[in-house]
Amino acid sequence: MEKLAKIYVAGSGGLVGSALVRKLREDKYEDIVELASHEIDLRDYSAVEAFFTAARPDYVFLAAAKVGGIYANSTRPAEFIYDNLLIETNVIHAAHKWNVKKLLFLGSSCIYPKLAPQPIKEEYLLTGELEPTNEAYAIAKIAGIKMCQAYRKQYGCNFIAVMPTNLYGIYDNFDLTTSHVLPALINKFHDAVQNKLDSVTVWGSGKPRRELLYVDDLADACVFLMNSYNESPIVNIGTGRDISIAELAELIAGITGFRGTIVYDQTKPDGTPVKLLDVSKLADMGWAAKTSLQEGIKKTYEWFKSEKACAR
Ligand code: GDP
Repeated sequence: MEKLAKIYVAGSGGLVGSALVRKLREDKYEDIVELASHEIDLRDYSAVEAFFTAARPDYVFLAAAKVGGIYANSTRPAEFIYDNLLIETNVIHAAHKWNVKKLLFLGSSCIYPKLAPQPIKEEYLLTGELEPTNEAYAIAKIAGIKMCQAYRKQYGCNFIAVMPTNLYGIYDNFDLTTSHVLPALINKFHDAVQNKLDSVTVWGSGKPRRELLYVDDLADACVFLMNSYNESPIVNIGTGRDISIAELAELIAGITGFRGTIVYDQTKPDGTPVKLLDVSKLADMGWAAKTSLQEGIKKTYEWFKSEKACAR
């Protein structure tokens, strides 16, 4: 990307989009287009078309999506499939129609089969059944990948797709019913410490394992790939390390200073038993994550506390 190019970050209000904007600013890209979700409804093709006609971006990071944790995904699958299919279809098609030089689509590690061999290689896509708790979201994300590949094949568009592992960081969603595990646990342990509670409830058995990537590292990898990768096959982005939910809970308890008991609510779903990406393809290109889990959780927790303080 040229430093003066016009770069549209779709979804710049979210966890990933806001990290991309921070990274692009840090790298001195000068013309970054941000639009909040209340300014444009990406599910509406006429709004997307009007935006592309007026803005004419050179590059697009497609980080806009309807996202959520295991509870939101399993209880509102219709919204997850409908919103994501529309956002992807509209933005990818408009990027083709308005001759965008390159588009980077953000997928997700949940596109892989529930029981894929670990660590998960890119070629395992579409080799088995999906995890039912987030199947609707995964199907929409698989459609986005296939659209990028189809537009490349038929029209020669330089559209690439990357698969981040579970993400966390500042500007995450900490709401207990819609968030992912890491922000939910920060919120729960913080609340327990503040209110001197004896126990914190963690969903499921604590046995599932997840790989967690700090969102600033993801943004770094996306900018790296936007500048260096021009092929159809998808690329995994992760740390190459995973942790059990029970270990994660202990770690967050330590960072927040919680000394009570951790209770496991086994009526809640575990989801996929293990989700660890094989990141050797990206490593071979010369990229590795920099932020340790401990450091990333500390940064996220400090941000969460300062946001709470501002909200009061
Ligand atoms: P997933 O990676 O798509 O399964 O999404 P999540 O991040 O929502 O959940 C990961 C794992 O953490 C699952 O096994 C959840 O049951 C478990 N978990 C434990 N406590 C919580 C919680 O308070 N919120 C969420 N979202 N997940 C939790």
